[in-house]
Amino acid sequence: MATATATPPDVEIKYNKCLIDGNWVDAVDGKTFETPNPATGEVLTRLAEGDAKDIDKAVSAARKAFETGKWPKMTATQRGKLMYKLADLIEENREELAKLETLDNGKPYKEALNIDVPLTAACYRYFAGWADKIHGKTIPINGPYFCYTRHEPVGVCGQIIPWNFPMLMQAWKWGPALAAGNTVILKPAEQTPLTALFIGQLALEAGYPAGVANVVPGMGPTAGGALATHMDVDKVAFTGSTEVGHLVMAGAAKSNLKRVSLELGGKSPNIVFADADIDAAVQGAYFALFFNQGQCCCAGSRLFVEESLHDEFTARLVEIAKSRTVGDPFDAATQQGPQVSLEQFDRVMGYIDKGKREGANMLCGGNRVGDRGYFIEPTVFDNVEDEMTIAKEEIFGPVMSVIKFKDIDEVAQRANKTPYGLAAAVWTKDIEKAMRISNSVRAGTVWVNCYDVFDAAAPFGGFKQSGIGRELGEYGLEEYTEVKTVTIKV
Ligand code: NAP
Ligand code: MG
Repeated sequence: MATATATPPDVEIKYNKCLIDGNWVDAVDGKTFETPNPATGEVLTRLAEGDAKDIDKAVSAARKAFETGKWPKMTATQRGKLMYKLADLIEENREELAKLETLDNGKPYKEALNIDVPLTAACYRYFAGWADKIHGKTIPINGPYFCYTRHEPVGVCGQIIPWNFPMLMQAWKWGPALAAGNTVILKPAEQTPLTALFIGQLALEAGYPAGVANVVPGMGPTAGGALATHMDVDKVAFTGSTEVGHLVMAGAAKSNLKRVSLELGGKSPNIVFADADIDAAVQGAYFALFFNQGQCCCAGSRLFVEESLHDEFTARLVEIAKSRTVGDPFDAATQQGPQVSLEQFDRVMGYIDKGKREGANMLCGGNRVGDRGYFIEPTVFDNVEDEMTIAKEEIFGPVMSVIKFKDIDEVAQRANKTPYGLAAAVWTKDIEKAMRISNSVRAGTVWVNCYDVFDAAAPFGGFKQSGIGRELGEYGLEEYTEVKTVTIKV
């Protein structure tokens, strides 16, 4: 059932070096690393492994491009045009990009093609539109002065992204940064570097000057760490685990106090009241957790179901979870591919084991699928208690925890019993309940009778230890500008 195609699709891996200053170069020390295909465990290719020395070169190139040459002289409209061009090139190359994403990450090809690519292009187009709309204010201060603000680019930005939505996370970082006139050095996740490099090439073809958009593949503690601690990087933006978020912020603090934005983990409550549209809520709860192999920072991983609805709801949920097709991500019938890596597979299996040992009731799943690749059965645990490990820690896999609740006061309070605050959802036909939960939950995003609705115009980010700052929308753009106040005596 769960084996990948014997012959992977016809796609050539063309870019496997560092993209620095407009050139494809080997790592300074000549090091390389492998990226495997999670559907088979076989190596796809070897790539240049950048570390501190390569980051140093990329930072120099980005600094030079930020201060001299064509980039700082370009008009805002020209910056927007380049980004529209990049979005067009992404669409023109959508099949190749989607194939690379599926090979490297394991997500179903039809999702890479119909979700990841269009959202990526839309994100660039959204921020392309902002490029010539970034402006300050005139301020009526006291005295014989004319006072105004300028919104200037922050400068050289280091950007570290995860493996769950590689292309899209690059767009969330490059869109606002390049629209505002910054220069960037991207460190993709070691598991999924292929599309980041391809899009680096497309940025060159779109006409971004050399050194504006650099990509350095490599490891987190070395290449990523070097970006966080570099004295000539003005800002670091990171998406990934809360644990590494702490390290990135500490790196910024002990180096040059560079600006920091973080988009971290979550343990999002998804609350279903007995008066909800049951069909929509069952589908919504299933999608909220199992989409993208359960590898979403905002996954609805604490599913609170009102007691009177619990038995019926759980039975229906288990029925669809059992029917989920797990297997070859290039097969059009596949709904769930492999987990991204052996490390993640082991980690998720470890959580399943903990769930069983701590007394949750496993209703379906729990096993590996097939004998190669990193496939896991969709798994549903019932009778999960707030104190169990699977209710507290981010699992990042196809493992659902159903938790019962009695009334709104109780669930409103239990929903917030977590150090995370990324997202939440509520399912009900009662507007008062919907608003009560939306107002009381401490999370950056709340969905009412829907889940995972993303749009480049709507800000996304975390309360508490789910992050600092926002991505997307106007708020996301602000993270990439510095405000300068100019006062002129008149
Ligand atoms: P991670 O270590 O936080 O990786 C995210 C990115 O940070 C990768 O590019 C990684 O490089 C880099 N990184 C790692 N250590 C670093 C350091 N010391 N300094 C700077 N950058 C560093 O996440 P992971 O280990 O891949 O996954 C572990 C868990 O994180 C998952 O199970 C999940 O719970 C969570 N996670 C959350 C998100 C999200 O969207 N919020 C995404 C992915 C994972 P390498 O690729 O070389 O490690
Ligand atoms: Mg890692």
